[in-house]
This record gives sequence, structure tokens and C-alpha cells, in this order.
Amino acid sequence: MNKDQIEAFGDLVSRADRILIISHIRPDGDAVGSTLGLGLILEELGKDVSLVLEDGVPKVFNHLTGSDRIIREAIGVFDLVIVVDCSDIERIGSVLDEFGEPDVNIDHHPTNTHFAKLNLVRDDAVATAEIIFDLAQELAFPLNLPIAEALLTGLLTDSLGFRTSNSNPQTLRIAAELMEIGANLPFLYRKAMLEKSIQAVKYWGQGLSRIQMEDRLVWTSLTLEDRIAADYPGRDDADLINVLARIKETDISIVFVEQKNGSVKVSWRSRPGFDVSSIATQFGGGGHKPAAGADIKGDLDRVQKEVLEATRKSLQKSE
Ligand code: 5GP
Ligand code: MN
Repeated sequence: MNKDQIEAFGDLVSRADRILIISHIRPDGDAVGSTLGLGLILEELGKDVSLVLEDGVPKVFNHLTGSDRIIREAIGVFDLVIVVDCSDIERIGSVLDEFGEPDVNIDHHPTNTHFAKLNLVRDDAVATAEIIFDLAQELAFPLNLPIAEALLTGLLTDSLGFRTSNSNPQTLRIAAELMEIGANLPFLYRKAMLEKSIQAVKYWGQGLSRIQMEDRLVWTSLTLEDRIAADYPGRDDADLINVLARIKETDISIVFVEQKNGSVKVSWRSRPGFDVSSIATQFGGGGHKPAAGADIKGDLDRVQKEVLEATRKSLQKSE
């Protein structure tokens, strides 16, 4: 992302009145925080802003001011379409089907496919929220408390509370600036990262009861039946992957989540020195070296078998 691109983004924003901001399906804290943070910034600039996430806002982010502004469908005509925190166009879902090529893509995934007319992609950023913060600084866009809370939530969740290996002094400087605006870090941390519903923990229990380990690889699955048994409302893994990733005897952990449409959502995590994004891209997914995911067509048994095979191969190569 160079100066010209930042200027080009500023020009696009200044010329637009109706702006659509969208992010990926199964949104995480950075998807919600970046959509909301940028949306509120542009609104402060007097723009008519629509915020759309096809899967809506997960309940764990309901405390963010403005989160109720995020809807599930893009309605109307827009002068500018911005996609945030999304590495490829498929991951948006069907929101953009009628709108064609997006104008701007703001993202930090190394696997980003540069699918928009203007691609503001920086893979050194811990979160897309960090890029949005930097753009706001460069272009003298306004920040206020709800914006700071949204951006800090993106920074916190993607860095897993500042403990991913890419967390650095600048991450903490930005967090400090957002706190100075008034964002309550302990509160946001607890809401987005610690608190779990009883359903989510029961759902973890289903997965944990079937956990498997082989050499330095650990995995488990969550079936549609598990979801019903636990009465868990989401179609994600309730963050079970980050529980598995804490097992010290492993290099790579995987969670397979069975989906209603005959596909399986796979999440990988790895220790430094292992690259799971390259495995995820083999299956049409993406992400970062230590954390990646993919949506894979097929039934649970088959997907599990194929993914485990590819992951074992990758582990052998890394040794
Ligand atoms: P998670 O496993 O928590 O869903 O995602 C881990 C990382 O991989 C995140 O950076 C996320 O954006 C990325 N990721 C997860 N699923 C997909 C996918 O289906 N496609 C792509 N391109 N990236 C994904
Ligand atoms: Mn992100």
C-alpha cells in the first residue's frame, strides 16, 4: 500500500455519497470491527453508509455501538463498494452478486487475490482494523469512541489479545491511541474473547470428547448433530480451534465443522515454523501462516481424510 494508493482511496471517498462496506461470511472480530469502524468514520464525513455482512453480527459483538446498523443484504445503488478483511471474492458470499467488481479491497491476508479495482493490501498489518486506523491517520479522517471500540476489537481479536507472533510495538501503540480516545480494553477483551455462552461451551464439549492426536497433529470435528445437542446457534466452531491450539504437544491443530449445505468448514492453527495457509489454499481457502481456513465441499469423513492427508504431508516437509 503506497502513498498513491492512499491518495486514490481518499479521492474515491471524497467523490462518493452512497458507500457500501462489506466483509466476509462467518464474520470474526476484525470483519465486524473493520466494517463498523470504517463505516462510522465515513458517516462522520457525511456519507450515506450501508454496512452489510451476509451472516449478520455474531452476538458476541452486540455490545459495539452501531453494530445494529449492520444488515444482511445490500439494498439500493452505491457510488463506492468497499470490501474489508476478505482475501477473496468467494468469501463475501452472495452480497455482491448484482454489483460486479468491487471498487476497493482493504485487507491484511497474505493470500489476498487483489480482486478489486483498488487493492489496499498490507500483510504486515496484524488486523485489517490496523490498516483502517492508518488510513484514517494518513487522510485525517475523524475518530471517536465507537470507532475506537470497533477498531480495537478488530486488533484484539485478530492478534488473539496481542499474543500472535506478528504482534509488535506498533500494535500496542495503536491500541494505546484507541484507549486514549476512550476504548475500554479490558471490557472489550472480556466481551469479544473471554465470555462464552453455555451453549458454546457445551458445543466445545462435543468436539473435545472426540479429540484425536497423532504425532504432532491434533484434530476434532463438530457435526450438525453436535450443534443441535448443544443448542448452539452459530455455524462456526465457537472458537474451539483456539482451545486445541493450546495443546503443547502439537505443531498443527485442526477443527472440522460440518455445514448444512454439504460442505465442511476447516480451521487450522500452527506453531511458528509451520505454514497452514499453504494447506488451506490447496483446498480453495486462505489465511495466514499460523491461522488459516477453508470451506470444502464434501461430507465430513471424506473432507477429514483428505485434509489430514495433506496436513501430514506438509508436516513431514517441515520437519
Ligand atoms: P478461522 O479458522 O478462524 O475461520 O480463520 C483463520 C484465518 O483464515 C483467518 O485469517 C480467516 O480470514 C482465514 N480464513 C478462514 N476461512 C477461510 C476461507 O474459507 N477462505 C479464505 N480465503 N480464508 C479463510
Ligand atoms: Mn483480519
